[in-house]
Amino acid sequence: MRSYSLIAPAKINLYLEIIGDRPDGYHELAMVLQSISLADQIDIRSIGIDAISVRCNHAEVPNDHTNLAYRAAALLTQEYPEAMAQFGGVEINIKKNIPIAAGLAGGSTDAAAVLVGLDLMWQLGLTQSELEVLGAQIGSDVPFCIQGGTALATGRGEELSPLKNLDNLYVVLAKHRHLGISTIWAYQTYRQQFSQTYISQAQDLETRQRRVHSGPMVSAIMHADGAAIGQLLHNDLEKVALPEHPQVLELREAFESQGVLGTMMSGSGPTVFALTASEAEALRVLEAVKTQIDNPELEFWTAKFVSTGIRLAQS
Ligand code: ATP
Repeated sequence: MRSYSLIAPAKINLYLEIIGDRPDGYHELAMVLQSISLADQIDIRSIGIDAISVRCNHAEVPNDHTNLAYRAAALLTQEYPEAMAQFGGVEINIKKNIPIAAGLAGGSTDAAAVLVGLDLMWQLGLTQSELEVLGAQIGSDVPFCIQGGTALATGRGEELSPLKNLDNLYVVLAKHRHLGISTIWAYQTYRQQFSQTYISQAQDLETRQRRVHSGPMVSAIMHADGAAIGQLLHNDLEKVALPEHPQVLELREAFESQGVLGTMMSGSGPTVFALTASEAEALRVLEAVKTQIDNPELEFWTAKFVSTGIRLAQS
C-alpha cells in the first residue's frame, strides 16, 4: 500500500501523582491514562523523493522538523534507512481536531500514528512493544498513545500496565481558545514549590508505585465504577495551574455545580474535563456550563472513553 489513514485519539489523565525527581532530569510519575474518541486523522503517503513533509490544517501547528509527527518519521528513517531507500519518502497530512497545548497529548498521538503507519507502509514488521520503545524516544506519552485504552503509567509515563477497559463513560471537555499551559512550566513550577515532598530513597519509590497499583482508583476501574472513578480523580499539577489560571478553576467549579461524576484538569492543562454516565448527560452539562460562563473564548467538546490507541481509518 502506498497510503494509510490513521485515527489518533487524545488522552486524558484520570490520575497524576508526582513522586519525585529522576536522575535523567524528568519527574517520576504515577498516572492513570485514558484514550477518548476526540481524535486527529493522520494520512501518510509514499512520495517519489527521499524527503519527509508535514502539512496540518491548524495554523499554530509547525510544519517543520519540530512537529512530533515529523520527528517520528525522521526517527524511523534513521533507524531503517533502507526502508526509505526502498519505499521513498513520506508526506504526512494532519487533520487536527485535538486542541493544541491542551494537556491532551495531541502532538504525541500524531507521532504515535506516524510510527504505526510507517511500520505498515515500509513493511518493517515491528511489534507493538518495539514501536513503544521507539515512541518513548520522541515523548513520554507516545507509548500510551500507541497502545491506548486505560492504563497505569509509571516512570516518565512510558512504563505501561494495561487496566480493564472502560467504555461506559463519557466526557465533556472545555478549554479557553487562547490559553495554553506549557508542560515544562507546569512541572518546573511544581518542582520549585513542592520538591520538599519528593521521595529520596529508591525503596520509597517502589512503595509509592505499589500504593497506586493497589490503590482505590485502580480498584474503581476494575469494578468499572464510574461514580467512584469520578470521586477519585487526582492531578498534582492542579496545585500550580489553578492558582495561576483562575479561568481553569472557574470551569472546574462550573462543571462541579452540574452534579457530574467528577471533574479535573487534564495533564498539565489547561483543558478541564467532566465525567458523565451517558452522552445525553454530557451534552446537557456542556450546554449548561456554556450558558453559565457565557464566554465566546470557551470551546467545548464531548467524547466517549475508547479502548483503542492508534487504529486504521481505512486500509
Ligand atoms: P501533552 O499532553 O503531551 O503535554 P499537549 O496536548 O499539552 O501535550 P500538544 O498539543 O502536543 O500539547 O502541543 C504542544 C506543542 O507542541 C504545541 O505548542 C506545538 O507547537 C508543538 N507540536 C509539535 N508537533 C505537534 C503536533 N503534531 N500537534 C500539535 N502540536 C505540536
